[in-house]
Amino acid sequence: MFNLVDSIANLYSSAAIKYSIPEQMAVTRWTLMMPGAGCEYWKKTNGGCTMCGFNNLTKKYTRGLLFPSFIFKLLYRLGRKALTTKAPNEVSVFNGGNFWNEKEIPSGFQSFLLKEVAKDRDLTRLMIESRCDYVTEARVSNALEILNGKKLKIAIGLESQDDFVRNQLIRKGMSKRIFENKVGMARKCGAEVLVYVFLKPVGLDEGKALKEALATIRYALLTGATEIELSCAFIQEGTRMANAYHRGEFKPPYLWTILEIINEVIKNDWPVSIGGFNDEPPPIAIPSNCSDCSP
Ligand code: SF4
Repeated sequence: MFNLVDSIANLYSSAAIKYSIPEQMAVTRWTLMMPGAGCEYWKKTNGGCTMCGFNNLTKKYTRGLLFPSFIFKLLYRLGRKALTTKAPNEVSVFNGGNFWNEKEIPSGFQSFLLKEVAKDRDLTRLMIESRCDYVTEARVSNALEILNGKKLKIAIGLESQDDFVRNQLIRKGMSKRIFENKVGMARKCGAEVLVYVFLKPVGLDEGKALKEALATIRYALLTGATEIELSCAFIQEGTRMANAYHRGEFKPPYLWTILEIINEVIKNDWPVSIGGFNDEPPPIAIPSNCSDCSP
């Protein structure tokens, strides 16, 4: 039978069984895509990181404007209501930018979310994404206090441990010193930190991209990251990476390269997961081998 709440909620909310690295078991992860005003760094730098197409997504839904808090709260409540048959253990909130930036997500919703998670009988962990700029000790400790014993996972994009790769090729605009300070502070406060590592930015060949991803995983773990997600390059239209792809100067990584990383992850028992090859806006090219062995 047609259910209006479910139909609306399915547009931005979904639940799936995932493997949780901290728990080492399967959990039900609830994913919420919130219509934030778009990454401030992207706007300031007129294009942000070279592979990132999220701005096209946020523009589509919000035209870059900040919606009032009540819209986010309503979306949260509808999404949660639609999950009555699948009790979620974790909630991951994505807004195509930085959760802790009041110019992207209203502060009223930031605190509402923490309180909702704290009182939800099923949820044990909240994950948000943010650039280091917005990860302050006050925000982390305040969030943990409101969560009242529930876990907080902060996802940060480091992408590469190499300054040239991170800041020139990827245009991340972040120093290692800041990254190390923020990870150390968040861990000291009691939060978990998931770090995104990028495989194959424009400007690195396959061999160098493989070496750099492995070096970055090692570095991120040494700084105190609790978990790594490997983002394997895929192409979203409207990005600098897409321009290079259209000019024939770039191809996403080979699946063999990802397999080599998986082998290293297993050998070293690293807490690494491999990110999916899909997102919004949908990619026009994803990691692949030749047409015979890709399947
Ligand atoms: S990758 Fe993150 S920081 Fe970079 S432009 Fe995209 S949303 Fe902003």
